[in-house]
Amino acid sequence: MQNLDRTYLDNNATSPLRIEVREAMVAALDDCGNASSIHIDGQRARKYVENSRKQLVAYLGLPSSDLIFTSGATEACQLALDSAKSMGFDVAIIGAAEHDAIYAYALEIFENVKIVPLKTNGEIDISVLEKHLSESAENKPFVAIQAANNETGIISPISQISGLIRQYGAAFMVDAVQAFGKMKPDEYAGYADWLIISGHKIGGPLGIGALLLAPGIEPAKNRPGGGQERGNRSGTQNTPAIHAFGTLASVLDDFDQSELRDEFEKELLTNWPNAKIFGKELKRLTNTSYFAIPDWSAEHLVIALDLSGVSVSSGSACSSGSVKTSRVLKAMNVDESIAKCAVRVSFGWKSTSQDVKAILNAMKAADLRRKAQAA
Ligand code: PLP
Repeated sequence: MQNLDRTYLDNNATSPLRIEVREAMVAALDDCGNASSIHIDGQRARKYVENSRKQLVAYLGLPSSDLIFTSGATEACQLALDSAKSMGFDVAIIGAAEHDAIYAYALEIFENVKIVPLKTNGEIDISVLEKHLSESAENKPFVAIQAANNETGIISPISQISGLIRQYGAAFMVDAVQAFGKMKPDEYAGYADWLIISGHKIGGPLGIGALLLAPGIEPAKNRPGGGQERGNRSGTQNTPAIHAFGTLASVLDDFDQSELRDEFEKELLTNWPNAKIFGKELKRLTNTSYFAIPDWSAEHLVIALDLSGVSVSSGSACSSGSVKTSRVLKAMNVDESIAKCAVRVSFGWKSTSQDVKAILNAMKAADLRRKAQAA
């Protein structure tokens, strides 16, 4: 049971369930049926699946209903890359800031991978994208660029990138996991040949995602089994989560947490004038603030906040005892000493100005303790 006294500001990692979504999911959990069964109970389960497919496609404003439910976006990214591979695309042009679900898997399955770097401000370098496209004209390239970055919140200029890609006759894969529910769908959905979304970043359940295919894109048939999802992704459909995902799409509204984010960043810079906010001058998700206070390690700050009841995340991942710097910050050429201080605050649908006050108070108290210890 979630401790209601805590301040949860890690919504880009996962977010609390919306009330309507939870109600829908609980109702479907109590409704036994396998969507592949032909009896009445199976038909009811199938209805959940088909209705949810319609709700998601309608929310995204797409004409086709070629949507494959998966166990989350990681699986959807892999299915998308498998589809590109099975369709004979042989050059993968991948953004440097892509999530590992795309980045690492593309490197694993494609021999020819070209990386599109970031500029130091976090912007995708379109001139290099164009160079890669023109150099790959003899082959069959596709481009994978995310709609918005999970760490910095920086939004990619999807319509401009799409224009360039079409000029070169390439195909476009868009990981819209962080954009889904936080940006207007017409800013990203209609441009993609493969579109990837996930439920849990904006009030849906964990463990549900989808891959949407534009007309002409063929799914990879490499998930042998029961032949669910029209043979495109075997495995009994997770009807409660699918029903909850569709319900989520039907209740999403214009999400805008810029007031909270701006208030937080204003106070951050007032109290710590040397703080660096990554991507601040670019168009970002309204809920995301990614910053570093020099000489205050993320490890220390994240733990200090956790002990004060505030959940945020750091830009560096700790595995096997060593701290790994964020690939995104590396791509932005951020100095190692700053990168190891990077902390992400991500507001959610439930966040309020009380949460902004709570994190700032906790940071001020932690800073006083830190300075007293150092003295
Ligand atoms: N892509 C992006 C941009 C993400 O932020 C994430 C999750 O953090 C994923 C893909 C993977 O999503 P899922 O947790 O649904 O597997």
